[in-house]
Amino acid sequence: MPELPEVQTVVSALNLKLKSRKIKRVVVNLGKIVSIGPQTVSNIRYSSQKTVNEFARLLEGRKFLSVRRRGKMLIFDVDGPLSLLAHLKMTGQFIFEDKKQAKRTGSKYRILNKLTAPLVKLPCKFTHVVFYFTDGSTLYYNDMRQFGYLRIVKDEDIGKVKEFQNYGPEPLEKTFTFEVFKNSLKARKKTPIKLALMDTKIVVGIGNIYSDEILYHAHVLPDRQVDSLSTKELKAVFGQIKPVLKMGIKYKGSSVGDFVRPDGKWGSMGKHHFVYGRKKQPCLGCGTIIESMKLGGRTSSFCPKEQH
Ligand SMILES: [Zn+2]
Repeated sequence: MPELPEVQTVVSALNLKLKSRKIKRVVVNLGKIVSIGPQTVSNIRYSSQKTVNEFARLLEGRKFLSVRRRGKMLIFDVDGPLSLLAHLKMTGQFIFEDKKQAKRTGSKYRILNKLTAPLVKLPCKFTHVVFYFTDGSTLYYNDMRQFGYLRIVKDEDIGKVKEFQNYGPEPLEKTFTFEVFKNSLKARKKTPIKLALMDTKIVVGIGNIYSDEILYHAHVLPDRQVDSLSTKELKAVFGQIKPVLKMGIKYKGSSVGDFVRPDGKWGSMGKHHFVYGRKKQPCLGCGTIIESMKLGGRTSSFCPKEQH
């Protein structure tokens, strides 16, 4: 599942590519991916043909002005009083191509993160929404598991979006200080630190990959209860949040979970994981064999020598 660094990679790429592009036509191949209004949509959902048509009609003829992020939600500002929200959830992918790139790639991409995966021509059966621009460029939304969504919200209703109401602080903002982190953890005293890091109410954008990496670099075991951590240990955890996420952004995300960048390439953060996904392999820091444990239904990897 894409986490903050992956979503930021998508945001930065699309912000450069989409600016001032005018939408000519929107094609929705799977209705349930799109919706209108601030209300949350469930995974078991249905959109009427009327909603689908309205979704396309509201966007056609408009320009994308900029793309930003709140937590793992992408926010596309379009001209007029609307915004387009998008959440990639498990396997959502945006792929953008202009005429030059389409010519170079033949619109073929490796949408699965395996060297052996075939090149697939877009749009494919996993392409649920396509934006065609007036200058001949195209934005594809692929989603194999279909948990992601695109939602149009009036700018005045952004504050009513349920997801945003539950979001805690942005970890890369200056306002996210040790005091803020410590205070929000007060409500999670008995929670294992890894699950607290993955709780969007405490801090947004951190999932399975980056929580494992943060705790490795902080030398703290993932199952330690929050109230068992000394101030020094808590400071070590906090101190690794920004650098580890920034490293993920630097390497344009981790493609372990079929994450693909908008240019169709993979992120390279996966090569810099010390523990995540490295069970039974030697730790990059000390050579000890990486172990794993189950926490909240997720596998968590750690170095038994360096983490305490
Ligand atoms: Zn180690």
